[in-house]
Amino acid sequence: MSILKWILLLTSISIYSCQTMPTEQLAYSDYPVYRGTDLGLTYQKEATQFKVWSPSADQMTLSIYDAGQGGKATEELSMKKGEDGVWHATAQGDLLGKYYTFKANIGGEWSMEVPDPYAKAVGVNGQRGMVIDLAATNPDGWEADQRPPLNSWTDAVIYELHVRDLSMDPNSGIEQRGKFLGLTERGTRAPNGEKTGLDHIKELGVTHIHLLPSYDYKSVDESQLDTPQFNWGYDPQNYNIPEGSYATDPYDGRVRIREFKQMVKTLHEQGLRVIMDVVYNHTYENETSNFNQLVPGYYYRQNESGGFSDASACGNETASERPMFRKFMLESVKYWVEEYHVDGFRFDLMGIHDLETMNLISRELHQIDSTILLYGEGWTAGASPLPDAERALKANTKQMNGIAAFSDDIRDGIRGHVFTPEQKGFISGQADLAESIKFGVVASTSHPQVDYSKVNYSKSAWAKHPIQTISYASCHDNHTLWDRLEINTPEADESTRKKIHLLALTIVLTSQGIPFLHAGTEMLRTKQGEENSYKSPDEINRLDWSRKTTHRDAFLFVKELIALRRDHPAFRMQTTELVQKHLVFLEDLEEQLVAFTLNDHANGDPWEKILVAYNGGPDSKALDLPEGTWKVALENEKISSTGFRVHQDATFNLAANSAIILFQN
Ligand code: CA
Repeated sequence: MSILKWILLLTSISIYSCQTMPTEQLAYSDYPVYRGTDLGLTYQKEATQFKVWSPSADQMTLSIYDAGQGGKATEELSMKKGEDGVWHATAQGDLLGKYYTFKANIGGEWSMEVPDPYAKAVGVNGQRGMVIDLAATNPDGWEADQRPPLNSWTDAVIYELHVRDLSMDPNSGIEQRGKFLGLTERGTRAPNGEKTGLDHIKELGVTHIHLLPSYDYKSVDESQLDTPQFNWGYDPQNYNIPEGSYATDPYDGRVRIREFKQMVKTLHEQGLRVIMDVVYNHTYENETSNFNQLVPGYYYRQNESGGFSDASACGNETASERPMFRKFMLESVKYWVEEYHVDGFRFDLMGIHDLETMNLISRELHQIDSTILLYGEGWTAGASPLPDAERALKANTKQMNGIAAFSDDIRDGIRGHVFTPEQKGFISGQADLAESIKFGVVASTSHPQVDYSKVNYSKSAWAKHPIQTISYASCHDNHTLWDRLEINTPEADESTRKKIHLLALTIVLTSQGIPFLHAGTEMLRTKQGEENSYKSPDEINRLDWSRKTTHRDAFLFVKELIALRRDHPAFRMQTTELVQKHLVFLEDLEEQLVAFTLNDHANGDPWEKILVAYNGGPDSKALDLPEGTWKVALENEKISSTGFRVHQDATFNLAANSAIILFQN
């Protein structure tokens, strides 16, 4: 999250006054811990068992309803307190299709009625849980669904997408606009015949679709879907359930589950993996969240006065170091992997979570499948009471196993600091950012030719291996790359700006690490200058498919660049040792030049030697080439996988704001 986004978000959500913990309460560390994995409900035709953890409660009631909202309870059951703070009740008879809530009496006061955090299905707007038979939500052929092959995390090319954005353009040719099912439509075309939607993503050649929050979030009213509404969804309500507004029917809790699975299955069939953006770091509500109604305070960190601490800048921060929230996170991600076949997670504000929890998540998920991709934002949006040394901050990435962090070093090296839009980046001529680009090229790892003292943010390597770095130039936060260039390169004409934009993507896709693309950046996506579009209308957020035609050259270039990366393992080294051995920077270059070679068939590359050079400056620059006969694979924003020509001279004149790739074979 950008801090700015959260500041703006704060103006639109309710802030509850901080409350002091009741004095008679046990310390949270003394709360009993439940080890079983049956919290929530266990459905059987004859009877359904419910279990809720609440050591705080003096009484607990289960209410059964016929609908997801409205009407009176058809049954109310008083629950019994068992071991380790777990309340249980068994409702006789077949409850399939019924809805339910819990309320807790704590210190003489009844809580609101809420679903429990472990609910796996809900009715409209997530207000009541629903009893379903999960197996009955599986689409045909679900048992045979398989993850597309992936050898290494560095083979991934991530495409960051909001469910609505892909299909909301009236010219998308997609029928299920704004829905999970919109990602399942094949053969969709813009009016001029360009591929759109899923066919477009396939054509581009990325490997992973990273979906912005697609669990059940709060800010879109699912009962008013005829009213235009948009939100990114960083406001979690029910973590283990898909968002209802992306389903064709948000009232029947089974539909969103079936359609989410259908989406995953179709994407898998098309060779694409699916990553979920997960926001365990805070809940939309404070006092009134499901967690807090059932166990006040426990799931959240507290500030010095006992109120909610707020490292998310959204009113609260969760306490992953407490066993029962750690357990919740672990079971939740495992559930998405096992029930929905999700292939990876992007942890929002991962720097709020503790290192131990993140490593447990990595261990458990990689036991299920070692190729599951895990990464997150190694920062917070505010101060946390948990010490920095214990949290999953970017600076602590080396202490995490199998988890990557976003590199704001390369992002801002490329484009300039995200919060000062007028500032230029390396690509548009800023003079002092070459070392930050080199830092990005080696994916934040240790390399003898990087002068870490000159890197924009990090003054030392923070990734143990390239697999721990997510390289990017833009994402949903802040200006799109194109809009940023409109602001910070007023002197440039459109064709120059296009060169600058494509230079940025060339750096991302030729750097070591895991490249990450903001959806639509391949067609120079614009949000009309909107910096923070978290709740802006579809007209701002949606992909405008006419740009694929207008900027077809850009699209083709990015597509070929992705193919080049796919065909050349030299760009995808898995270990720091390999990078140190094979990647050599050219030295004593002019200030706005970065150049390096990938030597000796690096990482099994078919090319013996590859030379990559970026000129971020506004003038052409002469580069002295290392010895040998060089063929040209990339120049003037065009790519030839076999080489356009042999370059005869000992120097190469690099055009302003451009990149070249040469090779020897
Ligand atoms: Ca929702």
